[in-house]
Amino acid sequence: MRAAVCRAFGAPLRIEDLELRSPGPGEVSVRIGACAICHSDVSLLEGVWGGDLPAVYGHEAAGVVEDVGAGVRTVAPGDHVVVTLIRSCGRCRTCLLGEPSLCEELASFPLSRETPLRTRDGEAVAQGLRTAAFAERVTVDVSQVVTVPDDVSLEAASLLACGVVTGVGAVLNTARMRRGASAAVIGVGGVGLNVVQGAAIAGAETLLAVDLLDSKLEAARAFGATHTAHAEDAEAVVGELMRGRGLEYVYVAASSAKAVELGLRLVGRAGTVVLIGLPGGARVDVDPELVADWSLRILGSKMGATVPQRDIPLLVGLYRQGRLKLDELVSGRYPLERIDDAIAAAQGGLALRPVVVP
Ligand SMILES: [Zn+2]
Ligand SMILES: [Zn+2]
Repeated sequence: MRAAVCRAFGAPLRIEDLELRSPGPGEVSVRIGACAICHSDVSLLEGVWGGDLPAVYGHEAAGVVEDVGAGVRTVAPGDHVVVTLIRSCGRCRTCLLGEPSLCEELASFPLSRETPLRTRDGEAVAQGLRTAAFAERVTVDVSQVVTVPDDVSLEAASLLACGVVTGVGAVLNTARMRRGASAAVIGVGGVGLNVVQGAAIAGAETLLAVDLLDSKLEAARAFGATHTAHAEDAEAVVGELMRGRGLEYVYVAASSAKAVELGLRLVGRAGTVVLIGLPGGARVDVDPELVADWSLRILGSKMGATVPQRDIPLLVGLYRQGRLKLDELVSGRYPLERIDDAIAAAQGGLALRPVVVP
């Protein structure tokens, strides 16, 4: 099968013919119909996080189940599925706490120990982010797939694998935001835009989007923000909107220490700050007395504390009711041969997603 292989960080991808092993017990193979490009793919391709090469990336995918291994009962060939990077045992402590993206048994899966991808010469090719969906097919653990109705396009479904669940999940799962709350989202890129739509779905009364770029602020309005502000004006805007009080919820989706510090200045007494972005080795100044005295909650949110089998059907329901925007998140469609153009588009830092349709 064809796949876009990364052989050197920062270099163009090469379309190669690879061998993909068929599914073993508890595994499934999926023919990929669409794979959106996430900012994590861009970071991986640039070598920011290191990792083994050659590798195939791509982890925001949807497709049709082709084959299932022994013991798989939840999906069958022909089923349309979302394919996520969340490989989980469902039985360990963190899985039972509702955080399968932190599964403690990850290393015990056969797929975690040995990549299912080889070149024709038998060279191992790493399965990037446990998925490797910049390809015609993937073999993944059954915990990584969630069935979706056939009438939802695979393009729309692919977006549910990462960016949408991370953003919406930060609001619904991590913060459990109350209806009528006031909130801000700092950084309204791929994930932040989905925090905005999650907060709108959760019934935020005042919903401020903060960014450096006008184009992103405009997109945030279309996704439910009631107000927008440039980062440097955010404190003044909140002061005016809230008549001197801070906000109840501040979501920090931008990956910088400055964004986190701004978040701590925008939140009010008894407020909640949710950290979503991953600003490398950055350190922030926090006043612990203020945190205690104001009863602030500072929460981390990995992949929106998503339980795919529970949350993706809910999001499909919201999409079908017209309350969750998915089609509007797609900025362009690219065949596998033009994946480098799609990656360049994602590198431009747009809020919307280029989608590869192998
Ligand atoms: Zn992602
Ligand atoms: Zn687990």
